Amino acid sequence: MTVTDTAAPAKKERWTAQWKELYSEVITTGLCTGCSGCVVTCPHDVIGYEHEEGKYLPFHLEEELGLDNCVHGEKGCTTCTRACPRFGAWEPSADMHLFGRVREPDEMAGIWRQLYLTRASDEMVHKMGQDGGLVSAMLIWLREHDYIDAALVSGVEPDDAWKAKPAVVTNKDEILATAGSRYTYCANPLALRDAKEAGHERLALVGMGCQTSSPPTMWDRKAGKVSKPFQFNIGLLCSKTFDDAIFPELFEAKYGLKKQDMVKMNIKGVFQIWMKDGSYHEIDLKECHGWTRKGCTHCPDFAAEHADVSTGGIGEDNDWTLTVVRTELGEAVIERMIADGSIIAKPAQSDETAMRLLRLLSIVSRRRWPQDADPNPAVGVPPPKKKAAAPAPAG
Ligand SMILES: Cc1cc2nc3c(=O)[nH]c(=O)nc-3n(C[C@H](O)[C@H](O)[C@H](O)COP(=O)(O)OP(=O)(O)OC[C@H]3O[C@@H](n4cnc5c(N)ncnc54)[C@H](O)[C@@H]3O)c2cc1C
Ligand code: SF4
Ligand code: SF4
Repeated sequence: MTVTDTAAPAKKERWTAQWKELYSEVITTGLCTGCSGCVVTCPHDVIGYEHEEGKYLPFHLEEELGLDNCVHGEKGCTTCTRACPRFGAWEPSADMHLFGRVREPDEMAGIWRQLYLTRASDEMVHKMGQDGGLVSAMLIWLREHDYIDAALVSGVEPDDAWKAKPAVVTNKDEILATAGSRYTYCANPLALRDAKEAGHERLALVGMGCQTSSPPTMWDRKAGKVSKPFQFNIGLLCSKTFDDAIFPELFEAKYGLKKQDMVKMNIKGVFQIWMKDGSYHEIDLKECHGWTRKGCTHCPDFAAEHADVSTGGIGEDNDWTLTVVRTELGEAVIERMIADGSIIAKPAQSDETAMRLLRLLSIVSRRRWPQDADPNPAVGVPPPKKKAAAPAPAG
């Protein structure tokens, strides 16, 4: 018998994976980033999350089958694994949904359409922003042009300006009050419940790659109506976040820099800290490594590869946001913002430092992905260069 090209295509396997598989494949293996995608999508509200120092991980709230299994999962509920951007072949799944193809082996920073350096034209927005203020300018623009009702971002606790907390923002003042970067973890999708309770149906999500890969993974795996509110996805380039303990244990204990006196921080090869008294301090990043949050140690996604637009601060000039435009929707919004003067943009390719770092830091992150996990994030990643052998001692 000959096989002809009219043979029926292979049937897609039925998706049966539930909390039990999520627990064994993602949570206990250290792949879980704490993004909270599974928590906010669970239709039975049985996944808990503590947004606290040393935690930032999901756990099962019902103990009937033990903490590693779920009664609803045993009855056929599979929403949590469909929403998890670290379960199974998540990278090709989100790629296919957003771009209709998977990344080429050499596309270390994911798939993109345009690369710009941008900055907000409004001086106040530019000043309040971490780099060029593009993210805040875009949220204000999306809101004013009726693309979204609200955005899920990172606010701070009322009594602690550096304790990040997921927040919902709906207007320019709220957007600017939450601008800038906090380098501890903030699971912004957790603000989804507050947004829904307030009746907001069309949302922008701002978040690092671990968070912005979640909506496209949900869409591709048909997680259901819970994925509907995510209308626009803004990614933040990211190598790691730090434990909250870095403030008392390193900045204050070693350098006398009190958290409550800090006004701004940034990472540009070193940890930069500006204080209320006008002083400026630099701390070697090697010193900070000991406080790397555990959930970041295996993360392969520096460039927030599944956002509509991803943003970062690498480059020759601190005052601009490196803007990686990935989807058609992202491109349409950026082009309209350039055309109406909301932002100033120039091609990023002219900034050799930004181009080199985007590729290099993407490779460094991909190398962290474990070899025994799904192979896709490691495809095409060049091995580290061997260090030249030390010259033989003379004499
Ligand atoms: C933890 C972290 C690590 C980063 N690491 C890098 C890096 O290694 N290299 C690089 O080029 N860029 C990195 N960035 C991105 C960079 O700091 C800027 O966020 C980005 O360039 C956008 O600047 P902007 O002026 O356009 O944004 P802004 O207009 O200042 O808006 C920033 C947005 O980020 C949100 N946000 C702030 N802190 C957090 C947080 N902890 N979690 C989630 N959302 C948050 C704010 O709520 C706001 O909506 C990182 C950002 C964060 C939060
Ligand atoms: S990576 Fe996110 S979705 Fe996956 S288990 Fe962890 S918190 Fe849940
Ligand atoms: S390195 Fe950044 S993107 Fe990756 S898990 Fe950590 S916070 Fe998320």
